[in-house]
Amino acid sequence: MGSKKETQKPATKRIAVIPGDGIGQEVIPQAVKVIQASGAPVEMVEFDWGADRYLRDGITVPPDGFAMLSREFDAILVGAFGDPRIKTNIHAKEILLGMRFKMDLYANVRPVRLLDAALCPLKGVEPKDVDFVVVRENTEGVYTDAGGVFKQGTPDEIATQEDINTRKGVERIIRYAFEYCRSHTKLDGSPRNKVLMCDKSNAMTHAGGLWQRVFKEVRSEYPQITPQHMYVDALCMQMVRDPRQFDVVVTNNMFGDIITDLAAGLQGGLGMAASGNIHPGKTSMFEPVHGSAPPIAGKNVANPFGAILTAAMMLRHLRFTKEADKIETAVLEAVRRKMSTQDVGGSLGTRETGDFVARAVSQLSLQTAAKFKAYVGDPDFHDGAIVQVRRESHELVVEIEGYSGAHYSVRFSGVKSVKSHRPEGMVLYALSEMEDEAPSRSFHFANSRQPDEEGGDSVLEITAQNCSVERR
Ligand code: ATP
Repeated sequence: MGSKKETQKPATKRIAVIPGDGIGQEVIPQAVKVIQASGAPVEMVEFDWGADRYLRDGITVPPDGFAMLSREFDAILVGAFGDPRIKTNIHAKEILLGMRFKMDLYANVRPVRLLDAALCPLKGVEPKDVDFVVVRENTEGVYTDAGGVFKQGTPDEIATQEDINTRKGVERIIRYAFEYCRSHTKLDGSPRNKVLMCDKSNAMTHAGGLWQRVFKEVRSEYPQITPQHMYVDALCMQMVRDPRQFDVVVTNNMFGDIITDLAAGLQGGLGMAASGNIHPGKTSMFEPVHGSAPPIAGKNVANPFGAILTAAMMLRHLRFTKEADKIETAVLEAVRRKMSTQDVGGSLGTRETGDFVARAVSQLSLQTAAKFKAYVGDPDFHDGAIVQVRRESHELVVEIEGYSGAHYSVRFSGVKSVKSHRPEGMVLYALSEMEDEAPSRSFHFANSRQPDEEGGDSVLEITAQNCSVERR
């Protein structure tokens, strides 16, 4: 169990950056600054697609634009589109919806995480209580713009808006949600194990029926995952009443749009929420959940955390895990210290908040972590078993019962990620440090037993900034 060092330098990835309109032009430069501070090996190329360009030369997306993005870039970082000068919003539709539809970015993944209890408008809700993800279908539904207007301007005017649901589209998004659930843990390391489908199949019977049938089929392929269902109206109420119950939510394009604004409210507002528009294996696009917010644009007041957390999500997608960890750690620190914009309790401007996070990320990069000493002092500990893993405020606590019956609390602070596979009852061999690279270190509880009966080792691996052991 030695330290694992990277011997190969990761290949540089190319990122297209499209700040767009309104506050997109203010928050995206902060995200870019933070990515640079993280030291991620990326090359960023900026594009001026958006309202100003459209008003200047009538071009929304240059010819070959989407094909060029797919061909030449590994990911796309986008701000927002929407400008009061363009009433039809044609440029936003062609750029943003065009990218989602034409590049077939069918899974809109929107994590909902509360970073600090102070940001949640609900009483008694802790960060551990809000940790779910909404998987929104991104290429169909009512956003296809199918429909029309008849007898416009007369008292008999008729408008139709079609809700397009294809078998292929519904099946792949539901399967994506189950796969996501299967392969991701919660922040506290517990496995994700529930997929809830949200629809309105009692009223929208045709589309709802298709979703219901496909959900039933796909869920049977994942017997270890608990399938759940809620009508969208009930879900809105439950999200406010008890957000703890949600794990992975899968839904259509419109309901996903609506419930993630509500979910953003649980996280501290639209300025905090990140998202990815993903097609596995293809160039994917990452954007904060908020729009261009014209009323606050140009005032240096927009919250850049949503954009910065989106950048972290993109780096994680590109497998720059350490850089993503550093950025999330720095944002957490900024939130807790209120080094933020006013909407989340601080008094800084957009740029100054970005500067703080970028500085914190650089410091994390420079820090040489004090080496954590494996807990070797007590053989009793090494023959003990893990009895509980729990969150306590900002710490993760692993309770261990030693061979002699003595109890140990191993406390981790600055926890970035936890990988676990049935840690409870696992017999310890050692607690040791796997890597010593700043800012986070991985601590590994090794199992002294042979792989368990299902063929997997019990594993508990925690990436955190610090760790202490207390014998009681
Ligand atoms: P879209 O339809 O493009 O999603 P929208 O008009 O529904 O956009 P936003 O543009 O996201 O909504 O903004 C709505 C309001 O939320 C803004 O006017 C602003 O008050 C607030 N808001 C959104 N994003 C931020 C942010 N990053 N920081 C602070 N406030 C924000």
